[in-house]
Amino acid sequence: MEYDEPGEGMEVMRIVLLGPPGSGKGTQAKLIAKEWGIPHISTGEMLREAAAKETDLGRQAKGYMEAGGLVPDGVMVSIVEDRLREDDCQKGFILDGFPRTVDQAHGLDDFLEGNDTGLDVVFSIEVEAERVVERLSNRRLCRDCGGDFNLLTNPPRLTGRCDRCGGELSQREDDRAETIANRLKVYEEQTAPLKAHYASAKLLQRIGGSGGIKEVFGEIALHLNCAGG
Ligand code: AMP
Repeated sequence: MEYDEPGEGMEVMRIVLLGPPGSGKGTQAKLIAKEWGIPHISTGEMLREAAAKETDLGRQAKGYMEAGGLVPDGVMVSIVEDRLREDDCQKGFILDGFPRTVDQAHGLDDFLEGNDTGLDVVFSIEVEAERVVERLSNRRLCRDCGGDFNLLTNPPRLTGRCDRCGGELSQREDDRAETIANRLKVYEEQTAPLKAHYASAKLLQRIGGSGGIKEVFGEIALHLNCAGG
């Protein structure tokens, strides 16, 4: 089913995407946002933008991000609450990279409950650790438009240049080998337990994330089409 007008003819969709770094969350979140006409909320992107603009939040977050650690829960919950209060989120949203701890999940549950709403589905993209390391170390982003590439699975046509805007491609600071190991450890220890939290709320859908971009999206779309009626 195709939806030309965002939100038209379908229910509001409030979605969380879980998955280790390098599982393709960002890519899938962008596709879902486009297809279902809902805002894509990436806390990682919000923090990187704040760091680039050297705002107070950016300065506060930078050290945690560079080390592959997590920005404190209180800070994250309040940023996301502010974002979810904006008009465009009233028709639904897809959260990518949040919640990342059980406390953040409780913060989100409380906020949504306070607004008489709740999540519709939580997708967990499942990919084994070796593949994630390979994907992250080959990931390149355009400095100008943020376009993402992977030297193995989605290489740019011209080496080091963005296909869309010709901008220079670079590696994210935290995609370097030393930091990747810490990010995966943090995911296993602090974020993976969220699967049990959402499974007990009967919201969890596990998605095999080892296939290609279209294949993974097909699986997600199947669930959303069923949920959307
Ligand atoms: P991402 O782009 O989702 O991989 O996030 C990049 C980095 O931003 C993470 O490694 C964390 O340092 C920080 N970050 C993003 N989202 C969160 C969150 N929900 N809680 C704490 N830290 C976060």
